[in-house]
Amino acid sequence: MSIVEWQDGQPFSTQFGDVYFSRESGLEETRYVYLDHNQLSSRFAALKSGEHFTIAENGFGTGLNFLAAWQLWKQNAPKDAYLHFVSTEAFPLSLAEMEQAAEAWPELKQEYAALIQTWQSFATGFHRLHPGASNLTLTLLIGDSNQTLPQLDAEVDAWFLDGFAPAKNPEMWSEAVMQQIGRLTKIGGTFATFTSAGFVKRALQAQGFEVRKVSGYGRKREMICGQLTEKVTPNLSWTAQYRHLHAQPIEHHAIIIGGGLAGCSLAHSLARRGWKIDIVEAKSSLASAASGNAAGVLYARLAPKMGTLAQLILGGLQYSQRWVKQWLPLESAEGEKQWSPCGVIQLAFNEDETTRIAGLSELGFPDNLMRTISKEEASQIAGLPIEQSGLFYPQAGWVHPPSLCHAAVLHDNISIHLNTKISKLQHSANAWTLFQNEIPVLSAPIVILACANDALHIEEAAQLPIRTLKGQVSYLPATAESEKLNTVICAEGYLAPERNAQHAMGATFDPHATDLSITHSAHLENLDTLSGLSKTAFDALAGEQLREQLNNDQLPAGMGGRAAYRAVTPDYTPIIGPMANMDSIITSKKITQPLKHFSHQDIPWHTGLFASLAHGTRGLITAPIAAEVIASFLMNEPCPVPTDQLVAMQPTRFPLKPNPIPRSSD
Ligand code: SAM
Repeated sequence: MSIVEWQDGQPFSTQFGDVYFSRESGLEETRYVYLDHNQLSSRFAALKSGEHFTIAENGFGTGLNFLAAWQLWKQNAPKDAYLHFVSTEAFPLSLAEMEQAAEAWPELKQEYAALIQTWQSFATGFHRLHPGASNLTLTLLIGDSNQTLPQLDAEVDAWFLDGFAPAKNPEMWSEAVMQQIGRLTKIGGTFATFTSAGFVKRALQAQGFEVRKVSGYGRKREMICGQLTEKVTPNLSWTAQYRHLHAQPIEHHAIIIGGGLAGCSLAHSLARRGWKIDIVEAKSSLASAASGNAAGVLYARLAPKMGTLAQLILGGLQYSQRWVKQWLPLESAEGEKQWSPCGVIQLAFNEDETTRIAGLSELGFPDNLMRTISKEEASQIAGLPIEQSGLFYPQAGWVHPPSLCHAAVLHDNISIHLNTKISKLQHSANAWTLFQNEIPVLSAPIVILACANDALHIEEAAQLPIRTLKGQVSYLPATAESEKLNTVICAEGYLAPERNAQHAMGATFDPHATDLSITHSAHLENLDTLSGLSKTAFDALAGEQLREQLNNDQLPAGMGGRAAYRAVTPDYTPIIGPMANMDSIITSKKITQPLKHFSHQDIPWHTGLFASLAHGTRGLITAPIAAEVIASFLMNEPCPVPTDQLVAMQPTRFPLKPNPIPRSSD
């Protein structure tokens, strides 16, 4: 949490005893120090159509530097060039503080309004925001820069070094931070900073920057700026190594196999970046498999240990919350509810859960991300009497996944090909050709597999250890009493508020199922889960009567359900990233270890083949951020997640095993 005091309308940090920017004019200082001394107007104007420019900043604060840079960008850069702004911040301002900061800068009113629209209370980690324009991306690295910058992969054109004064905030100017700045800067990249402290200058010189001392702004006598002329610290991050081996695709055209949450989110991320997209879907509509349920819950069940997967889920949850808020209207044109930020309560239904929730509450997450609540508060929020205390996620809620899929593909660059089941891929002359029943149907330089377990039928992905879990959800008829439910409640299962006169609840897990029939026994299992989840909700839904009818083999009036397979991996982490030809390794070298232990040069990469697979039960949480990860590979952009998360989801992380699909020569 930031500790900001407002002195004459200007922010002052009581923690560091320093101002956020010059008392004379913060905006003029920003323009002088950061924009002018990185030569941004002329560099923006020199960009060509479709080119990217990356600014990184140490110390986001009130966002003044960011917004001033964006304003300058709009005045100078070509309309279809892309600006990435990456910024670190250990003590993010609250929404109210951001609003207060905005008041000082009427010149940036429009830009502040766009930023505030996407602003939340952020947990530690990486957060990608899309304030306003489709050619602007902001990636916030929340946490101490000494910890966050080593996890970043980016190629930076210009740096704004804007910690508090080095004497008051030395951690932000540490040698380790300066080394990261050297690692992440392109040769020819620049920096500017208000300070002229000797140790900062020397640390930057040691990283290969040519440093100049120039007149400072206002009362400051001097400042420094400069350019990287020699790479002292190489960038050896996972994506950087991949990038060194792969030229960027010249033609921005991708085929996405699969029209569920993974595929549609990908189409959205790439079409916004000007790509031409073909989605091919085997079924007759989008969102026909696991993404077709009536309600998906936007929430995360985290363990207090917060390992890499938990961090990925928490970051994904917050990204998806922003995604739906920004791009999915609450209601469709026909007046159907598409999502609801109604909040989610996780109930402390047994001792383990009580311990888990207590452990999480000690981690100091922002209150409006999650907070513990008593059973009285839970009852008040839920609108029905609740018997347990719990954990409340106020910004979470439910989403109708098919609506999200349809909203994601509303773009002129996206074409959809339904009833097209791809059975084979073939690569030649820098393009992949897709075959349906041995007939070539489409080709493009990039193919992305986003078809869950169906990917196993495609030779290039048959190695992946994806298995399926059948899940059945039940749609229970709403009653006058059940309509009082205001929020999603969950324990072992979940129950969503009414939509179209039904409550979605689920779900069963069946790892052995071989068909997707909807069964009364699975409905009964869901009703048992409901009675354990909340006796009041069970009674409000006349659960006993529903049970009786199902036991008599009758489907109660107004009741329905849906069954789908979820694709999962042994580590329950999705598969996201570039694909390699694992089979060639097995057959040629008989090597039985994960490809991640290989050096990148030795991995037989498939040129232009990517995957966003095995999102399991969490597609709503991981698919949208996965799409940004893949876009960052394809466009050489800053990576939206920390390197350790990126590595944890690579398709090449699994031990190799013989390919189950017989070769044609076998
Ligand atoms: N650029 C900002 C603006 O446009 O408003 C002003 C930045 S202010 C001078 C410095 C910022 O660095 C503060 O927001 C502070 O919370 C943040 N900060 C301080 N120590 C940090 C650390 N170790 N890691 C990351 N951020 C830190």
